[in-house]
Amino acid sequence: MTQPQPGDHWTEGASSRRTAPRPTGWKTIRAEVLARDGHQCTWIEDGERCAEEGTDADHIGAPDDHSTGNLRTLCGYHHRKRTALQANQARGPLPSRQRPAPRHPGLIETSSVTGQDSTTPSSPHQRRRPNPSRPAHPGTPDDPPPF
Ligand SMILES: [Zn+2]
Repeated sequence: MTQPQPGDHWTEGASSRRTAPRPTGWKTIRAEVLARDGHQCTWIEDGERCAEEGTDADHIGAPDDHSTGNLRTLCGYHHRKRTALQANQARGPLPSRQRPAPRHPGLIETSSVTGQDSTTPSSPHQRRRPNPSRPAHPGTPDDPPPF
């Protein structure tokens, strides 16, 4: 097995279908499947087997079952087709997500600015009132000067 394997980049087409991570021995498994199927695509259409060179190992059943019994050889075209079909069957058309429009970072909410006026005390010089429960010391002024 010294010939280049063009199927090594097969993950490109399946990037949207990351259902299971590939095992460490995936290359060996794939090579086994390809050799078993004679490096020919096993896709059957209209009763005829695809004549293309098989470069990809496709999961027949569970995508996380990497046994050779669950794998078959497909050409790149049919693997992409198959992957697209699986994705459509599993998910259906993707719903268009409605994301809220991002707010402009420079915008200040006007409600907080205008609402400030009504809550602002009329007199900025609020005097501290003595605590009625604690009688102030007769000799101590309520607000000592900041010496
Ligand atoms: Zn094919």
